[in-house]
Amino acid sequence: MKDVPNILWLEEIRKEDIASVGGKGASLGEMASIGLPVPPAFVVTAQAFRRFLIETGLEQNIFKISENIDVEDNAALEKAAESIKAMVIKAAMPDAIKNDVKASYKKMGQSDLIVAVRSSATAEDLPDASFAGQQETYLNIKGESALLSAVQNCWASLYGARAIYYRAKQGFEEHSVNIAVVVQQLVHSEKAGVMFTSHPISGEPLTIIEGSWGLGEAVVSGSVSPDHYVFDQRTESIGEKMIANKKVEIIPDGSHGTKLVPVDKSRQDTQVLSNDEIAKLAMYGKIAENHYGVPQDVEWGIVAGTIYILQSRPITTIGKREGKSMSSDKSKEAKILVKGQGAAPGIATGKVVIIRDVKDTGAVKEGDILVTRMTNPDMVPAMRKVAAIVTDEGGMTCHAAIVSRELGTPAVVGTKTATQQLTNGQLVTVDGEMGLVYEGSFTGTSTAKSGTQTPVVAVSSVPIITATSVKVNVSIPEAAARAAATGADGVGLLRIEHLILGLNKTPGWFIANHKEEEFVKELYDGIKIVLDAFPGKTVWVRTLDAPTDEFRNMQGGENEPLEHNPMLGWRGIRRDLQSFDQFRLQVEAFKRLWKAGYENLGVMFPMVSHPDQFIRAKELMKGWGIDVDIVTLGIMIEIPASAIMIEDFLKAGIKFASFGTNDLIQYTIAIDRNNENVADMYNPQHPAVLALIHSAIQQCRAYGVECSICGQAGSDPKMASWLVEHGITSISANIDAIAKIREAVAKTEKRIILEAARNSNAE
Ligand code: PEP
Ligand code: MG
Repeated sequence: MKDVPNILWLEEIRKEDIASVGGKGASLGEMASIGLPVPPAFVVTAQAFRRFLIETGLEQNIFKISENIDVEDNAALEKAAESIKAMVIKAAMPDAIKNDVKASYKKMGQSDLIVAVRSSATAEDLPDASFAGQQETYLNIKGESALLSAVQNCWASLYGARAIYYRAKQGFEEHSVNIAVVVQQLVHSEKAGVMFTSHPISGEPLTIIEGSWGLGEAVVSGSVSPDHYVFDQRTESIGEKMIANKKVEIIPDGSHGTKLVPVDKSRQDTQVLSNDEIAKLAMYGKIAENHYGVPQDVEWGIVAGTIYILQSRPITTIGKREGKSMSSDKSKEAKILVKGQGAAPGIATGKVVIIRDVKDTGAVKEGDILVTRMTNPDMVPAMRKVAAIVTDEGGMTCHAAIVSRELGTPAVVGTKTATQQLTNGQLVTVDGEMGLVYEGSFTGTSTAKSGTQTPVVAVSSVPIITATSVKVNVSIPEAAARAAATGADGVGLLRIEHLILGLNKTPGWFIANHKEEEFVKELYDGIKIVLDAFPGKTVWVRTLDAPTDEFRNMQGGENEPLEHNPMLGWRGIRRDLQSFDQFRLQVEAFKRLWKAGYENLGVMFPMVSHPDQFIRAKELMKGWGIDVDIVTLGIMIEIPASAIMIEDFLKAGIKFASFGTNDLIQYTIAIDRNNENVADMYNPQHPAVLALIHSAIQQCRAYGVECSICGQAGSDPKMASWLVEHGITSISANIDAIAKIREAVAKTEKRIILEAARNSNAE
């Protein structure tokens, strides 16, 4: 330890140096060592930080404070954290360290070189460095004194309240925690983006590059549709180029931060990367992949013709995929008619039938391609017949997307113009993976399928066992058998509104026409089909959650109130708590099922925003003869309020909680999940969404309550991996996603175990 200097240059660093330079520093050093053009950088080592603590006498003082903190006392913890941070920031940096930092900065280039200063956590097993306060980053730092204080600020970030709490809970020794600081020349990219060194789904040696103008943040955050290039490593040639209309870019904003600005007209439709740059980037990608032994997800930027590789990490999504996409040879020759989001995987060819009104669905024939503005739940019978579905509106979580995935019907949503561009009777091929509709037929035959027969998921011959339960979502009982065939550990969400919508009469109609018994029986029978398909496994049935507009076309729908914003309106538990009869009839169906011995039935309440709603629902159920202390009752976390107040729900006795990210995302970042105009900003990985999920998981864990996810985000392997790292108990995914989610979960669990074993060996 004594021998490690205050500063290490990237060229001197290898991945083994993690204890001195932290995770970020080690990975940059490793990249530089294999010849990747990483922007120049040095690291203020963890040893320099230790020397700082010892020489200033801070170590003793910090230890004294941290020894006496009751981390469960929030106010005391915050106060202690603030005072330690202030001490670290105010202390005079020892001259030796100060001089070393200054000299290194000078060595990097001119005196006013702009750098980024980032803390680099040395405790590899911190599951969430950002939450532990260890991801402090200062961009646009210029000049010696700004640099020195940024370094000290990074050091102080080690003492955020959350970080102290985390370490106390994990039993980390405060004496041994350390932090390194990376100082790197800031690359103000003129163009930037990401690269998958191999195809992220099939694993083929096709390098996929996405790039746009300005800083890479625009591509990573999804605020722009980037250019898309495919470089074939076998033939060493560019296979595909799609030049997007790039309306915005992110650029540096003065000396601090960044801003989103419009791209001037002349560059909007211009190809971002030259052919040479594509080839060069692909070559760097190949170097990284060969070195690390697995395909990489790389961030890059270009300034004045110089390419910089900013980050490289393994891709986690490669795996078996049942819903195939178009072979690139065929798709290369075909003409793309419209583009949208690939909402349900698979390919189908057929004749277009444009439906402008639900009344016209009679015209839909077996094997057609249904093209419509937006599907409605009452279009489900027509959706069952068709080979594929294409909509103008909607995003990945819209009705058309959910039902198509369950039916196993390829779907492309949010094309904006399909109902105008396509014509009745036109022969087209739909690629539900890539979100493309091509002219003509590739196979010469219609690939029409019916949902119940399509073997969407093949169970792997060697079963993958995961400690995290992998469950499946079901919306229509006819999908129950296919759902069960995935081998899922239960049903994490059974939406009953689709079952009711299939009846084509609103609950209000049944009540007004004194046909309550009929309604209860329909519910009972539909739910029973799913329960029977999952003997001995839990099935969480969700009480009714249909926005008023979805019921409008049904019999009785004329009585639904007209709402300006049904998404924020009379739906979920808030409606059931006011419409007693509607709630009572659902409870009656559950009661009969419990009585019939279906102990695996759990009931989940949607759209709860306050624990009082859960308590009230329980009281009502008790009044209707349910032993609420025995049955399994839980909630969806799909409103930020319920994530924030999760502890109060836990105290109120929920037996489980499940993230409904489709809604949680829209309510957290104010992006309508059904609006194709903002679909590209619908970001499941928005830091605010992740922060809500993270803290709710930790609270559930503290109470020993199952915490799950049933929103679409749980069907994304990357997200699943993140959730496992953060301690989720179960993940409920779409039928078509079970295999890849199970694989991602298993890999992540193994990695966690491996890292823990390595760490304990290293001690
Ligand atoms: C969700 O909001 O994530 C969810 C699963 O519910 P729905 O999609 O039915 O709103
Ligand atoms: Mg929801």
